[in-house]
Amino acid sequence: MTDRITVIRNAAWVVAWDESASRHIFRQDVDLAFSSAGILHLGSRYAGHADEEIAGASLMVMPGLVNIHCHSGDEPIAKGLFEDIGTAALWGNALYEYSALIDSDADAKAACQTVMLADLMRSGVTTHLDIASPHSKWLSLAVESGLRSYLAPGFREASWRMAGSHRLDFDWNKDRGRERYAEALAFVGQARTHPSGRIDGVLAPSQIETCSEELIQEAVAEARGRGMRITIHAAQTMAEHEELLRRTGETAPAMLERLGVIGPDLILGHCIFLDHHSWTRQRSRDDLGRLARSGTSVAHCPVTFARSGMTLESLGAYRRAGVNVGIGTDSYPFNMLEELREALICSRFAGRSVFDLDTADVFSAATIGGAKALGREDIGRLAPGAKADLVLVDLNHAAMQPVHDPLRNLIHCAAERAVRDVYVNAQTVVKDRRIVNLDYDGAVRELQDAQRRACRRAEQDDPQGRSLDALAPYSLPLARG
Ligand SMILES: [Zn+2]
Repeated sequence: MTDRITVIRNAAWVVAWDESASRHIFRQDVDLAFSSAGILHLGSRYAGHADEEIAGASLMVMPGLVNIHCHSGDEPIAKGLFEDIGTAALWGNALYEYSALIDSDADAKAACQTVMLADLMRSGVTTHLDIASPHSKWLSLAVESGLRSYLAPGFREASWRMAGSHRLDFDWNKDRGRERYAEALAFVGQARTHPSGRIDGVLAPSQIETCSEELIQEAVAEARGRGMRITIHAAQTMAEHEELLRRTGETAPAMLERLGVIGPDLILGHCIFLDHHSWTRQRSRDDLGRLARSGTSVAHCPVTFARSGMTLESLGAYRRAGVNVGIGTDSYPFNMLEELREALICSRFAGRSVFDLDTADVFSAATIGGAKALGREDIGRLAPGAKADLVLVDLNHAAMQPVHDPLRNLIHCAAERAVRDVYVNAQTVVKDRRIVNLDYDGAVRELQDAQRRACRRAEQDDPQGRSLDALAPYSLPLARG
């Protein structure tokens, strides 16, 4: 069973890894054989034993995508509420005054996670890094999904508190933060030893401004001792940028450099508001160099931020500066292929040029960039010896026609609609567009009630006591009668 061999015969297009050029290339009309041992063959006719053969004439085969930043906890029920709103005094960001009010309860956690995992798989993701609060099914659902999972239990010592609609304050409770940190350590210890071999743990001091410098340094030292990755939200909003300036006079990368924590095992979530960003008006241009020299990775999640009128300046510029960037989805719609499209568009807007970033660049970020951030050379590429994590794209889908360059068609037009099958470790996780291992439809049915409950709690928790109608008015007036 474990070494069952599958062969895709005469695949019309394959996105293959060229080791000598260190980049993806197209190959046409080749056989691809794989098993749980990995990619066994990629080239002309495979003459060895095969347990299953798949006709490849109408397929593009590509490596599975690596999503290095997403949140399963509450985001699936945040949909439709705050897309048209933000806090004007906090640069238009909706995070602190609005989004933070939406928390899923214990009954909703599994449904939220299931929906996220399913939507990621349907858009070609085979590896994900989920930053969330641990719940009883978190590990088991990740295992059951069949995905390759990096689970990052978030912990922090301060929570956000809004004063009116103009000022962000911090409520510090270091004892509780330490408890959460201890729980996170216990959780990752358990996750990393899971026999599936597909699960790893990541240490996640949640946000740079909600953890003390001591806790960040301690957590990073602990992760390094255990050979684990670390991820921290940093430079994600102007409010955070200004708070760090107020506390230390430093930007996020400067502070993390002083703390001795930047390095190739650190993934910074978002990392938008650096000293070169036009909104920050800093007088230095050092941050991209800091990240590049230290090998620190950035998790770029354009959709959530573009919704609030913000973007990294620019993905192309980060890559040219030598910063390793991977792609994440952060929040809904958990559609990795749409995220890639938005990453391209945002980069060209911010860089004011069609030449700022091309399709190959963004695909590389979502595969090789993510793999590098996770310290892996066996995922995000199709080559003999790599893991059998791959995506079969249906070239016959209307959105893929006509075919001149199928990767461009997929990213600029078809997105998840053309994703037919997805394999992780040679096992099918999406088959004919259906999720194999999880009850996706059942989980979707739970979201409506879960969102209603969360909205009731948001009304109770809002410091200004606003009703849902005031917090999240409909996009159109509702006709009466
Ligand atoms: Zn995030």
